[in-house]
Amino acid sequence: MTAVQVPGTPVISDGRLVSTSPATGEEAGSVPVATAGEVDRAVARARTAGQWWAGLGFTGRRTRLLRWRALLARRIEELAELIHVESGKPVGDAIIEVLTAIEHIDWAARNARRVLGPRRVRSRLILAEFSGHLEYQPHGVVGVIGPWNYPVFTPIGSAAYALAAGNAVVLKPSEYTPVAGQWLVDTFAEVVPEQQVFTAVHGLGDVGAALCRSGVDKVAFTGSTATARRVMAACAESLTPVLLEAGGKDAMIVDADADLDAAAEACVWGALTNAGQTCIGIERVYAVAPVYDAFVGKVVERAERLTVGADGADLGPITMPSQLDVIRRHIDEAVAAGGRAVLGGPAAVQPPYVHPTVLVDVPESASAIREETFGPTVTITRVADADEAVRRANALPYGLGGSVFGRRDALAIARRLRSGMASVNSALAFAGMSTLPFGGVGDSGFGRIHGEDGLREFGRAKAVTRRRARSLLPAMTFERTPTDVARIVKVTKALYGRRR
Ligand code: NDP
Repeated sequence: MTAVQVPGTPVISDGRLVSTSPATGEEAGSVPVATAGEVDRAVARARTAGQWWAGLGFTGRRTRLLRWRALLARRIEELAELIHVESGKPVGDAIIEVLTAIEHIDWAARNARRVLGPRRVRSRLILAEFSGHLEYQPHGVVGVIGPWNYPVFTPIGSAAYALAAGNAVVLKPSEYTPVAGQWLVDTFAEVVPEQQVFTAVHGLGDVGAALCRSGVDKVAFTGSTATARRVMAACAESLTPVLLEAGGKDAMIVDADADLDAAAEACVWGALTNAGQTCIGIERVYAVAPVYDAFVGKVVERAERLTVGADGADLGPITMPSQLDVIRRHIDEAVAAGGRAVLGGPAAVQPPYVHPTVLVDVPESASAIREETFGPTVTITRVADADEAVRRANALPYGLGGSVFGRRDALAIARRLRSGMASVNSALAFAGMSTLPFGGVGDSGFGRIHGEDGLREFGRAKAVTRRRARSLLPAMTFERTPTDVARIVKVTKALYGRRR
């Protein structure tokens, strides 16, 4: 095995990025590290490949993307095992991740023509002599920069939609999960061997930065808010458009008429799945006073049953070793500020694992409430009513997802959350629904992946007008006369002068 200091920490050796399991140190594989020049050349090759890919049209791309989807489905166990080794994620969770990615490829492939293809647009009386034509043309080359926590689901959320829209894609996977990223690219090349339409460049953050400056036509970034700012700054230099899927601190609201068993089950899963390393993970809960005690009890009862370990456990290790310090700090500060750990606590941090931790009575100023923890911890706070819950949930700069449990007002509460997404009587469900857009507000980023909006992110609107007849009211010509202008005034008043 390569000399690795801390299992899971990426090491560059002989020009290769060596990826290891955070649980065991087992080598998951290695990939070549790209220089800035190699990133530029990869983008130049992708540009040529992208022209060929765009030329295939929606039908040709759909056929090939569906073949890739079928390959992923047939080899789902192989990919899940690789994710497990490389990130430590339990195999069952990795299976769900790949299934969700497969669904997104399927939907994007099947719907790209309907959403992006050429269509006639109705004209209005004012320009009735013209017809309107609209289509969404590919940008060219899209750079996709991905995180390690969902190394298949997150890049595919951008890449599949970008590819379906007719773009070539150059992927920069996280340095913690490059082998899973390379696996995606290699299997795509198995079904599309003609041109390098989907390729990867590997390395540390500087390779991501080089991709932003490489002349790609759009960057789709998923990662932390801090890096999102750097990506946007780099892209600003060349006015390269960006889509930013950044961090979150999602809240769950439990209302008085909630099904408490269902709420506790969803809370435990939403907070602790993938050991809490989920951008849309539930990190804070606001439960109304009449159900608070019963809810906390049910959450603890479920969370304490979960197992933690390398193989076959409910929770795996923390993938990025440095995150352990953040999780430890959040727990310590919460307790120091008067919070209580009703499960877990400071002793729950046992590198590379963190055991489930439920914190109560944590002041709203504490880091455990205000900052992204990205670990298997959750705070539960008592509130007077749903209004207070919404106010507190909306008090942070983040605004990614959220969850509401209740009956009568749950949907109305979900609509009031300042977030891009919300689940009513479940947690995280919106991520797998390919027909719905995915993305955040504020510090959680902007732009959307998934769904029709997600497809449109990867095409630029091309608007064409076509003359059908001579203009009865010549407005846009130096040939127009004062009489024409007088008639235009008359028509304007007749068409738009009414108060309603
Ligand atoms: P990072 O921001 O650390 O890294 C994300 C990617 O950006 C990595 O590939 C990283 O490369 C790369 N990168 C680092 N520096 C630069 C740079 N200067 N220019 C361009 N690219 C760069 O995030 P994590 O990988 O730690 O992922 C966790 C974060 O992702 C959490 O905040 C989580 O909430 C968020 N996330 C958001 C999602 C969403 O949909 N909104 C979904 C999933 C996660 P390298 O790894 O080599 O440093």
